[in-house]
Amino acid sequence: MRKKITIAIDGHSSTGKSTVAKQIAKELGYIYVDSGAMYRAVTLYAMRNLFVSKSNFNKEAIIRHLPFIKVEIKFNKELGYGEVYLDDENVEKEIRYLEVSQQVSKVAAIPEVRKVLVEIQQEMGKNKGVVMDGRDIGTVVFPDADLKIFMTASTERRAKRRYKELKERGDEITYEEVLKNVKERDYLDSTREVSPLIQAEDAVEFDNSLLDLDEQFEKVLKLAKDKIEAVG
Ligand code: C5P
Repeated sequence: MRKKITIAIDGHSSTGKSTVAKQIAKELGYIYVDSGAMYRAVTLYAMRNLFVSKSNFNKEAIIRHLPFIKVEIKFNKELGYGEVYLDDENVEKEIRYLEVSQQVSKVAAIPEVRKVLVEIQQEMGKNKGVVMDGRDIGTVVFPDADLKIFMTASTERRAKRRYKELKERGDEITYEEVLKNVKERDYLDSTREVSPLIQAEDAVEFDNSLLDLDEQFEKVLKLAKDKIEAVG
């Protein structure tokens, strides 16, 4: 049997990381982990408990409650990938709301939050055979990942993609709001002190601006298969 590898996919918001990560995991029979969903779940917890709102950001309360926040990824057989649970409740839909997107990068900048979530992520990937997407997967979570991909696309293209997704789900939202959020998160994620979004030196840069989903999938799959071949 072929050895399993670890695949880290990082990049800015809405570059299509999760779409390709899910496809690759399914094709290879690997586990897919959406690390952003975990940061979103902690943010949702903080919002529900009023530690975080448009006018309030109580970092100390979030840190104090960290030991009590139960974030898990549970495999959904029908979908073929994991979904995020907060205290045993499936919160997949709620964590994608714009209100959560507007707060998540501030919560993700708290070192204590990162420490807890990175440990869970490392545990999930310890046996390899994992495709994980996020911002610091190739740099911090799995610095020894066998294949690192850094996805990029223009800001406008990413915002349009995200807007379409949210509209299709029925969200009341404008393109301008989505574009503003994408830009804000890019800025916060790239400039924070702890684990900022940067391209790992050994990552393959992958601009998908001009690729359709099938082409993107084929190209990433080839990178993965070549790597699997190389590690034996
Ligand atoms: O991937 P997604 O856009 O859902 O991630 C939401 C937010 O979570 C990001 O904008 C970023 O602030 C944070 N994040 C992070 N590190 C990761 C994954 C996500 O800081 N590995």
